[in-house]
Amino acid sequence: MKLRIAIQKSGRLYDESISLLKECGIDLRNVKDRLKTESDNFPLEVFFLRDDDIPQYVEDGVADVGIVGENVLYEKCKEVEVLEKLGFGKCRLSLAINKNEDYVANFLQGKRIATSYPVLLQKYLEEQKITAEIHEISGSVEIAPGIGLAEVICDLVSSGSTLFMNGLKEVETILESQAVVIKNRELNSEQLALVNKLLFRVRAVKKAKKNKYILLNAPNDQLAKIFGLLPGMKSPTVLPLAEEGWSSVHSVLSEDEFWEKIEQLKAAGAQGILVVPIEKMII
Ligand code: ATP
Ligand code: ZN
Repeated sequence: MKLRIAIQKSGRLYDESISLLKECGIDLRNVKDRLKTESDNFPLEVFFLRDDDIPQYVEDGVADVGIVGENVLYEKCKEVEVLEKLGFGKCRLSLAINKNEDYVANFLQGKRIATSYPVLLQKYLEEQKITAEIHEISGSVEIAPGIGLAEVICDLVSSGSTLFMNGLKEVETILESQAVVIKNRELNSEQLALVNKLLFRVRAVKKAKKNKYILLNAPNDQLAKIFGLLPGMKSPTVLPLAEEGWSSVHSVLSEDEFWEKIEQLKAAGAQGILVVPIEKMII
C-alpha cells in the first residue's frame, strides 16, 4: 500500500512542497509535467493538482493527505484534519482601498468588494456586522478599483508590492495564512502509520531549520557562565583543546534567540564561534 499525497501542480507552493519531500529523504521519480509520480524509497504516490481542488480530493479520500494554503482550505470549508503548519507559503488575506482615500470608521459599509474569497470575506463582514456587496472574480482582483468594478478588494498579500503598483493600500487583515498538511478523516491504521512516519520526518526537518549547531572555544574558568547561556539538546558537549586551560563547547541554539545569545556568549569570553546548519533534528 502507498500513501497518496496531493500537492500543487505548479505555482507558489510547488517548489517548497517538492523540497520538503526531498528533505524528508523521499526521492520522486520524474516530476516534470506529470499528473502523478511515485517514490522508490518511501511508499508514497504524489498527485499534482490545482491548489483549489486539494481540500476536496482529500475530503473525498482520492488523496490521503495534501499540502495546501490555509486560505484555500478555509475558503473551501471541507471536512479534513489539519496536521501541521509548514512555515512556507506565508501570506495574508487583506482588504485594500485606494491609497488616496481615508479609511474612516464604517468605511466598508455599503461598498462593493471584489474578491476570489467570498466565503472568508462574508464571514468577516458578518462578524464585523458590516453589510457590503461581494463581487466574486477569479483573478487579477487588484485591478477592480481601477476599472470601476469595486471600491475595495479582498486579496492575498505578501510583500504588498502588487497593491502598491495598483495604487492601493492595505487596511485590514482577515486571515494570516501559510501552507499546512491536511489529512482525510477516515484513514485506516495502515495509512495512519504511514502518515505518522511522514509527519515524524516533516517535524524533524522543520525543527532543524529553526535551530543552529554552534561550536565555540572558551577558557575553562568561564565555562560555568557559558553553560548557563546554552541549553543544548540535553546539555552542551565539552571537549578539551590542545591548549592548556581551554575547551571547545558544542550546542544547539534556536534561531529566535540566536543573535542575542551570540552577543552574550562573546561577552562571557567565547571565541572562534562557528555556526552550522542542522539537516535533521530528532529529540
Ligand atoms: P493554481 O493553478 O494551483 O490554482 P493559484 O494561481 O491559485 O494556482 P498561486 O498563486 O500559485 O495559486 O498561490 C498558491 C498559494 O500560495 C496561495 O493559495 C497562498 O496560500 C500562497 N501564497 C503565498 N504568497 C502569496 C501571494 N503573495 N499571493 C498569492 N498567494 C500566495
Ligand atoms: Zn488556485
